[in-house]
This record gives sequence, C-alpha cells and structure tokens, in this order.
Amino acid sequence: MDSVAMTDGFHIVVDAFKLNGIDTIYGVAGIPITDLLRLAHEEGIRYIGFRHEQSAANAAAIAGYLTKKPGVCMTVSGPGFLNGMVALANATTNCFPMILISGSSDRAIIDLEQGDYEELDQLNAARPYAKASFRVNRPQDIGIGLARAIHAAVSGRPGGVYLDLPADVLGSTLDVETAKKSLVKPVDPAPSQIPSPESVKRAVALLSEAKRPLIILGKGAAYAQADQEIRTFVESTGIPFLPMSMAKGLLPDNHPQSAAAARSYAIGQADVVVLLGARLNWLLSHGKGPLWSETTQYVQIDISPTEMDSNRLIAAPVVGDIKSAVSAILAEIKPNQIRPSADWTNGIAERKQKNVQRMAERLNADPNPMNFSSALRVVRDALADRPDIYVVNEGANSLDFARNIIDMSEPRKRLDSGTWGIMGIGMGYAIGAAVESGKPVVAIEGDSAFGFSGMELETICRYRLPIVIVVLNNGGIYRGDPAGSKPSPTGFVHDSRYDKLIEAFGGKGYHVQTSASLEKALKEAIEAGTPALINCVIDPTAGTESGHIQSLNPKSALQK
Ligand code: ADP
Ligand code: MG
Repeated sequence: MDSVAMTDGFHIVVDAFKLNGIDTIYGVAGIPITDLLRLAHEEGIRYIGFRHEQSAANAAAIAGYLTKKPGVCMTVSGPGFLNGMVALANATTNCFPMILISGSSDRAIIDLEQGDYEELDQLNAARPYAKASFRVNRPQDIGIGLARAIHAAVSGRPGGVYLDLPADVLGSTLDVETAKKSLVKPVDPAPSQIPSPESVKRAVALLSEAKRPLIILGKGAAYAQADQEIRTFVESTGIPFLPMSMAKGLLPDNHPQSAAAARSYAIGQADVVVLLGARLNWLLSHGKGPLWSETTQYVQIDISPTEMDSNRLIAAPVVGDIKSAVSAILAEIKPNQIRPSADWTNGIAERKQKNVQRMAERLNADPNPMNFSSALRVVRDALADRPDIYVVNEGANSLDFARNIIDMSEPRKRLDSGTWGIMGIGMGYAIGAAVESGKPVVAIEGDSAFGFSGMELETICRYRLPIVIVVLNNGGIYRGDPAGSKPSPTGFVHDSRYDKLIEAFGGKGYHVQTSASLEKALKEAIEAGTPALINCVIDPTAGTESGHIQSLNPKSALQK
C-alpha cells in the first residue's frame, strides 16, 4: 500500500499566504507561532520581527494603507495578542486593511477557565475592536479562514480583521491532496462599487448651483489611489480644496487651489462642501459651529452608506468607491457647469497670502534654544527637494506644527496619528513604510510620542532601514519641567539623550542644539540612508498643553 503524503497546519498557512501574494509578515515570535514564522521565512516570505506587538501591528496597518492589500501581523497568544489589539483597533478606526493572526491556547481549557498558559478567549476579546473576527478550528479550514479575512479587510470600508489560529490546528496533520484543494484565492476581494446614477446627478446638480464650493480630501481619498481622477475633478472644476492631514500631497500643498492656509475662512464660508473620503468627525468639528455655518450643504462621497448623516444631513450622498464615484461625476459634469465665483476664489487667495506671510515671519525667526517652528523650518527645507521621502509624524505640538509647516507633494507620503489622534504609531509606521516602499522615511516625533515605540530602534537598526528619527525634545508631555524640579505628571528626565539609545544598536545618533547643526545632521543622515536619530533640543517652555485641541482637555475649576 502507498503511504499518503501528509502536511500540517504550519505548512498550510504558509501555502495559503503564498497563494494570496502575502509576501511580508510583521510580528513577534513566541509560543505557538515560532515554527510558523521560521517556515514562512524559509519559504521566502519576508518576516520583520519587532520588540512589541503594537508596533508590529501598526506596521502591518500602514502597509495595508499604502498597498491596498491587507497587512499581516502575527503574534503569540494572550498578552501578545492583546498588545497587537491596540493597533488592530486603530486600523479599524482609520479604515486601514490588516489581518492580525494570533496563535491561541487550548480551547477546551480556555472555555472551562481551567487556567492555561496565556489563557484568553481571544476571538471574543477581538470582536468589538475588529471589522470582523474568525477562528479556524480544523486544518482543512485554514484556506477558507484566510480568504474570509482578506475579503473582510479590503472590501467596502477597509478595516482590521482578527484571525485566531489555535496551537493544535497548527500542529495537526492533513493529507497533501486535501490540503491543496482546501486553499482559496479570492477573485475580486475589493470589488468596485459603482454609485447609483441618481446620486451622481443629485451631487452634480447641487454643485452646479454652488457659489462657494469646497472639496475636503480625506485619507479615504488617498487610500483609494484614484490620484488622477481626483486631480482632474479639482482642476477641471476650479473648486478650492482642503486636505485632511493624511491627504496632504494628494494634490501638492503648493497647488494654487489649496485652501489649507485659509482653512477656517474656507470652511466657515463654503456653501457646498464635498467630503471626499473624509468623515465629519471631531477632526472637522462634527460639521458644527463655531467653525461651520448652519446653512452649508454637503456632498459626501464614501464607500460606507452608514457614514451618511453621521453628524449633519448630507444633501447629496454618493455611495461608492472613490475612483468609480469621481469618474461618474466627471462624466456627468458638462463643460463650465461648475464655476466657483471669483469672489470666493479671490477671497481665499487673499487670506492665504496674509496667513502665509504671518507664518513665514514665525518660521524665519531663529531663537536659541530652538522652538517647534524654527526646528521644523529646517526639516521642511531639508525635505523640500525630496518628495520621495515618507514623513511619519506624531506628538501633540510636534503633530500640530509639523502638519502645518511640512509641505507634501506626493500622495500617501504623510503618515500620522490619524483618526484617534494617538501616540505610539511612530516606529511601527516608519518601519512599515520603509519595508513596503524601500524609500527613506523621516519620522518627526515629540519626545513623549517617541517613547511609546522607542524600543523599535533595535528593529530599525537590525534591518538597516533608511529611517531618520527627529525627536523634538522639550523634556515632557506638551512641555518640560524646569531644571532641578521634582517630576510633574507631564515632565521627563531633563536633557534626555535619545541619540545615545540608537547608538546602542549601531545606529547614528546626533545631539543638536542649533538650527545650523540640525540642518547639517539631517542632510547627512538622509544622504547616508541608514538608521539615525537626531535628538533635537528645543525650549522646554515651547509647547502648549494639549496642542491645538485644548478644548478637549477638561480642567478642574478647583485646582490652581
Ligand atoms: P480623514 O481623517 O482624512 O478625514 P477619515 O478616515 O475620517 O479621513 O475618512 C475616510 C473615509 O473614506 C471613511 O469614511 C471611509 O469609509 C472612506 N473610504 C475609504 N476607502 C474608500 C474608497 N476606496 N472609496 C470611497 N471611500 C473610501
Ligand atoms: Mg515633548
């Protein structure tokens, strides 16, 4: 009798990855996935190992955003899984497609709460934070499990998906023939979603009556990779546009139709606003006063039908994917049908000019010690002729200032705190961007923000990634404590030398205290294309509490 050739769960998972073109995995090794990672690595899948699951999963999330394919992160069971969940929840919130795959312990023991190693009911723990969650219970279901995860991650509004792989499924065997037949490669996991013709007509009719129209570009528009269609829509209609932070560069920030430097005026005075892959959430004051007028009408172009009317009535909802929707709108518009009034475009241009001038004065000051503006002016100049460089940005003041000061000229090159406005994405996003693109990354980090993922400096150095980290170091959250004082709730060690951290792993550290030395260090580090950290000392009194969102920071009336 011929013996039947056998395989096991480990090999089936790797075969399923390969069949689906999953060529990169981010993760942290350990029980029960170590052998799986080793096997994937041997089989030619690029594996990037991190020091903490949150950063690994953030890297996978940003890989999903950049490529429109689900980024994959693998973790161990229990706490390792939970560490990754923060990033999975963040991916879902930001509409980034990713799959978190965690090994898990013995179901029989978990379900009776008998106390297993890293015992946790991971599937149910993931549910509220994931777009979808699945568990594979038999080796012959691995292929279907991955296919369902891929569909859920990239179809419709993208998001984070959890896939649970119990240790015993990985270890169990199956005959090779059955295993082969069980694999699935989805045919069209992110199908186009064509908007209804009536919705397109309604949107064009509303726009053609507008005197003061405005287009707000969100990161959904950047994600859609409909760059040419969007540019044609903006330029052929002449409508001013405002990019949300991660949509910067979809059209260059120095584009004559950009209303970014006249933001409040443009939002406050617009009569019809087109939300293009942008939600009317807290980042846009929910469409409510004092920023917004009560009479503003909205066209909202979004793949998610339930996003409509979330905060304000949407007069012209266009539900579809952005490429299809913008193409349909372009086909519907007759020549010269949409014309913003000259008063409107001139009014925006005037305010822009005034604000740009005011900003230039602030930027050109060269105080000693440096402040956020003077340091970021140097970074801006260094990046000006390097549109290929990815910019990662997090912090409070570091985020607010850099968003306004650093111009972007290419789509999807600015990666930041996003919808939650969180800290901790920095090194994960930087590594994901460098690995996926092979391009250099400059991460502009507040000293507090950097701390959340700082140990990944070792990861950056291990893989020799072209990442330069600029730590805007004012010695604390928002700002530093006076030298010699006891630590306050927001203060850190005075004069921390973050540059020495990277030297521990063979990277290049710089300690800079003047704009001239920052300029020199940044140029040198970018040119070298190897891991570097610039500890940029700025005034400890520079920075305001909560940055630009002080209104969200409750204050005790009783405290002095
Ligand atoms: P921002 O923070 O930049 O304003 P948001 O994350 O709030 O952007 O909004 C992005 C929106 O884009 C979400 O409502 C999401 O449903 C939508 N979206 C994502 N991908 C697409 C796509 N391919 N086509 C249409 N809408 C999309
Ligand atoms: Mg700080």
